[in-house]
Amino acid sequence: MVLNRAKVRHLLSLLATLAVVTVPSVMLAQEYVPGEVIIKLKGSGKTMKAQAFIGKAVSEKAMTLKGSYSGLNMHHFKLGDGQDLEVTLRDLRNDPDVEYAEPNYILKAPGQVGQEEVISMSDVRAQSAVAASSTVGTLAQTNAPIQLQNAWSQMSSSVSPVVVAIIDTGVDMNHEVFVDSGAIWTNPNEIASNGIDDDANGYIDDVHGWNFAANNNSPMDDDNHGTHVAGIVLGTTQDIAAFPMQPAAIRIMPLKFLDSSGMGTTSDAVKAIYYAVNNGAKVLNNSWGGGGYSNSLLDAIAFAYSRRVVFVAAAGNSSSNNDVAPTYPANYSVPGVISVASTTDADGLSSFSNYGLSTVHVGSPGSSIWSSLPNNFYGRASGTSMATPFVAGLAALMLRENSSLSAYQVRELLFAGAQKISSLQTKTTTKARINAYNSVVAAKAATGDSSQPSFAASSREPASAEVAAGCGVVKALIDDASGPSGTSRNVAFFGLLVLFAAPVVVALALRQSSGKSRRRFPRYDIASTVRLKVGDRELVGNVNSISMGGVSLQTDAWLENGGVVTMSIKSPDGREEIQVGGKIVWSEEKKRYGVAFEGADSSSLNSIARWTSGC
Ligand code: CA
Repeated sequence: MVLNRAKVRHLLSLLATLAVVTVPSVMLAQEYVPGEVIIKLKGSGKTMKAQAFIGKAVSEKAMTLKGSYSGLNMHHFKLGDGQDLEVTLRDLRNDPDVEYAEPNYILKAPGQVGQEEVISMSDVRAQSAVAASSTVGTLAQTNAPIQLQNAWSQMSSSVSPVVVAIIDTGVDMNHEVFVDSGAIWTNPNEIASNGIDDDANGYIDDVHGWNFAANNNSPMDDDNHGTHVAGIVLGTTQDIAAFPMQPAAIRIMPLKFLDSSGMGTTSDAVKAIYYAVNNGAKVLNNSWGGGGYSNSLLDAIAFAYSRRVVFVAAAGNSSSNNDVAPTYPANYSVPGVISVASTTDADGLSSFSNYGLSTVHVGSPGSSIWSSLPNNFYGRASGTSMATPFVAGLAALMLRENSSLSAYQVRELLFAGAQKISSLQTKTTTKARINAYNSVVAAKAATGDSSQPSFAASSREPASAEVAAGCGVVKALIDDASGPSGTSRNVAFFGLLVLFAAPVVVALALRQSSGKSRRRFPRYDIASTVRLKVGDRELVGNVNSISMGGVSLQTDAWLENGGVVTMSIKSPDGREEIQVGGKIVWSEEKKRYGVAFEGADSSSLNSIARWTSGC
């Protein structure tokens, strides 16, 4: 590509903006478990080839098999001491027996839960008693107009409960709302505490789900998140603040894969999804996210879809556009996935909520939602984590009324029943917020389809931004950029520039592959402040949109001043910010402009070195 001067200015302004704006979320979104890989082999799962490959991997590559997903030919390995993940992944991807190989990404529950207005269940009961004899309402989970009570009036009696899997931090199964309603799922084919895998599903004594984080049969919540989420799912089907409780119309299957700090891994998420589907869940609630594009996770979600299971996922809490910066698993385009944004009681988009006209589907209440908290407490929390379980609960109600519906139909009817609101006009595909009554009525009236649109998960090589996972790959890019003309200083920055540019490249590629008409410079919403020092002047810009053409910043001065600049760069976790001086230089070898770190102080260079290594 030949760069004229105008293009150079655009490029520089773009890169400078990305350095400040996008790196924190990109980097954090792609942390992974050190030294672990997930591999899918070609062919079916029980071939000699698979056994031979595993034997070879264990002996030649010194990898330890941590687990296999039966019938899928997918295997989870730990690398031997001193083995480099990037090198190993490259080798594996070149192996003709390997369909894909990827890091074991770290996933997480977004945000904190239960910090507001925490009260005891005895207080909830007291208020319930008052409400029963007066016009005072109970502690309704939301005041958003989603027509829950009207939906409940449509519920049939004596219908077998639909099972909803809560794939999360676990559930406090001893909480009164679950005990009194009898909502917790029990595995009908497992005998408790006999030390035998009675139903031969691979899990011993899994009477009430499984703890994949600790690999035991106690999916109790050691955080707050999963219990709050589970209470909302139940609360979508009945008033959980009204005592005595009604018998539950659904069942909650607690599947814990996030630990006490809200962190989990792709390998455990995949196991939880397969467990849920294979053990009878019809709706999966996924109030979590993170990691890069994962073939193994996509395979698991596609498997759920093939079994007509609805997969509801939180859009994320970064106030960002998922069309531009994908959030997984919400962004996987499997037809059974519902990506959920959060709305307020007044039908605004919640300030924290992600959105996406092409990738986020529907709004649901997620601001200040009352629900259960461990140890018989009750409290409010906000997040797309809270919006998602209303949708999961509604999907369960719809399936309860009409079990013949496919996952695809549930999604379409749920969307069709949703109510258009102005705040979502440009923010979600449906432009609408859920309406439980409309969707339940529509579900009752519908005829179930025996088939649904096909979806084949085809593995893809992750795009560069996604391979650029975590610090190890930053290091790899720097290594790659080294050359005869580079000193260690300017080489380091070339590496970073490549990484900064990657998200927009991916966004552009996605936009182009969608087949929509292309403007010269597609624009994306962004909300950030960018600061650049040019000589002794500091430029501060509020950036509202960004395109490959650049942002609204006057950058002519960069080159006029001999290309000497000072840039503010935030650390990957967003907690640090450094000022780095540098000079704009052209690398003939890389055919690219970069900023050489001339005049940068040692502490700045140390910070960059720390961000780019040692993960
Ligand atoms: Ca079992």
